[in-house]
Amino acid sequence: HDGDHSPPSYPSPWMRGGNGWQDAYIKAKDFVSQLTLLEKVNLTTGVGWEGEACVGNTGSIPRLNFRGLCLQDGPLGIRFADQNSAFPAGVNAAATWTTRLFKTRGNAMGSEHRGKGIDAQLGPVAGGLGRVPAGGRNWEGFSPDPVLTGVAMAETIKGIQDANVIATAKHFIMNEQEFNREALSDGTPAYSANIDDKTMHELYLWPFADAVRAGVGSIMCSYNRINNSYGSENSYTLNHLLKNELDFQGFVMSDWWAQHSGVASAFAGLDMSMAGDQNLGSGNTHWGFHLTEAVLNGTIPQWRLDDMVVRIMAAYYKVGRDTARVDVNFNSWTKETFGYRHAGAKEGYEQVNFHVNVQGDHARLIREIGGASTVLLKNTNNALPLKKPSSIAVIGEDAHDSPDGPNGCDDRGCDKGTLAMGWGSGTANFPYLIAPVTALKAQAARDKTKFTNVSDNYDLSAVTAAVTGAEAAIVFGNADSGEAYITVDGNQGDRKNLTLWGDADALIAHVASINPNTIVVLHTVGPVIVEALKNNPNVTAILWAGLPGQESGNAITDILYGARNPSAKSVFTWGKKREDWGVDVVYKKTSDNPQLNFNEGVFIDYRHFDANEIEPSYEFGFGLSYTNYSYSNLQIEKKSPGPYEPTLGKTEPAPTFGTIDMDPANAQFPPGFHIVNKYIYPFLNGTAIPTGLPQTFPKGANDSSSQPKLGAGGSGGGNRQLYDVMYTVTATVTNTGAVKGTEIPQLYISLGAPTDPKVVLRGFDDLILDPKESRTFKYDITRRDISNWDTASQNWVISEFPKTVYVGASSRNLPLSGKLS
Ligand code: BGC
Ligand code: BGC
Repeated sequence: HDGDHSPPSYPSPWMRGGNGWQDAYIKAKDFVSQLTLLEKVNLTTGVGWEGEACVGNTGSIPRLNFRGLCLQDGPLGIRFADQNSAFPAGVNAAATWTTRLFKTRGNAMGSEHRGKGIDAQLGPVAGGLGRVPAGGRNWEGFSPDPVLTGVAMAETIKGIQDANVIATAKHFIMNEQEFNREALSDGTPAYSANIDDKTMHELYLWPFADAVRAGVGSIMCSYNRINNSYGSENSYTLNHLLKNELDFQGFVMSDWWAQHSGVASAFAGLDMSMAGDQNLGSGNTHWGFHLTEAVLNGTIPQWRLDDMVVRIMAAYYKVGRDTARVDVNFNSWTKETFGYRHAGAKEGYEQVNFHVNVQGDHARLIREIGGASTVLLKNTNNALPLKKPSSIAVIGEDAHDSPDGPNGCDDRGCDKGTLAMGWGSGTANFPYLIAPVTALKAQAARDKTKFTNVSDNYDLSAVTAAVTGAEAAIVFGNADSGEAYITVDGNQGDRKNLTLWGDADALIAHVASINPNTIVVLHTVGPVIVEALKNNPNVTAILWAGLPGQESGNAITDILYGARNPSAKSVFTWGKKREDWGVDVVYKKTSDNPQLNFNEGVFIDYRHFDANEIEPSYEFGFGLSYTNYSYSNLQIEKKSPGPYEPTLGKTEPAPTFGTIDMDPANAQFPPGFHIVNKYIYPFLNGTAIPTGLPQTFPKGANDSSSQPKLGAGGSGGGNRQLYDVMYTVTATVTNTGAVKGTEIPQLYISLGAPTDPKVVLRGFDDLILDPKESRTFKYDITRRDISNWDTASQNWVISEFPKTVYVGASSRNLPLSGKLS
């Protein structure tokens, strides 16, 4: 972990059933003890791309009438389905800063997955965290702040798993840009994200610790390398950090075709191979029958295989899949009712789509989150809320429907019409998409407001005619990004720039040159450069609406007309120019060993702006309301949880479950077995197993003896005393204005060392306040909150530097402060 080298960590920690996994572990042990070698292997390996209905499908156990597990994207709803909802993206969920909404959204998504027969939802996302503002998949996750992301992860996971579906925290770890994320067929390896141990703990690992503490059932590794070792076979990140230090009890799956080895990845802590085939549709595999061979020839010990399977089944029982499972009733590969059961092989024509409607009343929640995530960045001359204006003009392609419909491009891989999600695997089909123009036109009709609109960003003469004399001109612009396997307008996942798409900057400038009440709405995946809009006196209001999902138009209308008072706060910093962030996507094409050095350490986003005294357009945590709030009366109460004790002792030796028949003759394809083309099986084809080949594997990898516990570990999310309460902080927040609103008080801490950020976010809440009402904001500061990672002792330590707590309305508006002594 010195940046270019990832230290070995073996053996792979075996599950022990701690941290609330006890009951699930017992059930899983009972189940796994009955299984044969082939049945065990079958649960560890996907059947290959398009082998079954879901994006990921493990093998099944026909003897026990146990169908394979169905794993399906993604973080904002069900991918490749119908009759499902399209939820606001992760970045929008974060912008609500509301734990209730994090969890409710997770639960609604989870229940939709459950209704379709899905066992594991492939979300939520904490990697990419959002190191670089142009990172293509940032919007799938929450925020570049690890605490906000950590809380959002934990609550989303609880929501999903309360719905009896396994949540998947991904991508572990440091999948911070799309460009060069995967090894290429010409031999170019994926980029290596190089990082030091302190930054790993204080920044990138933090939200995964929260995910593990929340009981997440599975973790998906990343495509990239970390300190030059692939995420799928990095024994330090998987064995040491995740399974030992964080004491993760669930299973680790590879990202799709991110596995690069068979034996090595098994020893490094991988538990499930996805999609199972070695490359998309190759018919070959790193595991499957190769894993059978590796057990039979003695390379992989039974305990390691058993641990993989018991972790998988424990996750299944932990969330109650055994009581809630329904048949998979949709198909990722066709929208038609009838199709192939094995789409890749075009075999098994039958009914594959049952069109089960799983939307419930989630539209209401989606509209609520859409409004609660819309950040009011600027509001002058009381431009907003609108009050029955005599006329409005709604301008811009982003306010309008795509002529191709909301699902016109596969995986949303185009930017046409209003933008309500980015592109890639983290998408869902829209059941419908309310464009802003639709909802605004209906509002105008109710108010008898004269209404005009122009959708063509380039038809400036029509725009001139529409906005001239309008009481308000509402202009929409967007900026899109997504996953690297689709390139949109020259953006290969990551954004090329931080400007608006479709020349919307010029469009807005044109409107503002004519209409003195120009209101700007931005549907963007992250920050764009808005300094000119901020300084333009004719731009009276700016709103960031992010990626609001299917209820987009209704949600923005609620905000524009004041049916909902804005409460969202920005979850990232708005720099004045791209260079202000200090770090960026590395686009350089390198044929030999792409290295991304995270030399900035923990100084990303606001921590970088603060440390370098760079004035942003709008800071992290900033957002206006239609009312005003004041902060007063900070109180700090010191608690005495006792000293921090490193975890001591040793684990039990590795257990095995059942007996494995080591005779290769009994691991063959059954006579007359029908082999589906390119499907991955656990069976051998002939009794000759590779033996006697020089097989070197890392020291200790097959050691099943009891192992020392880590001082920083011992419980889910690390040493349980890290979560002891050290101080309770309270402050009074008052609504000093005339309308009801929700304020998001934020608590920051200065850890005090010259090497620490000026302040770091630690807590927040959402307080609903009537006019003149006051409420108490309360946050319990934990030991982790005031500790730094100490590389020498390999543990968290409270430094001797004086620490200060701040409470206020944004990262740069902190009226209250006090010493933590
Ligand atoms: C053998 C390898 C083989 C692997 C999986 C190992 O024990 O040495 O050659 O690829 O098992 O079959
Ligand atoms: C993505 C994952 C996704 C998987 C399955 C990969 O390309 O990185 O996030 O879950 O595909 O679709």
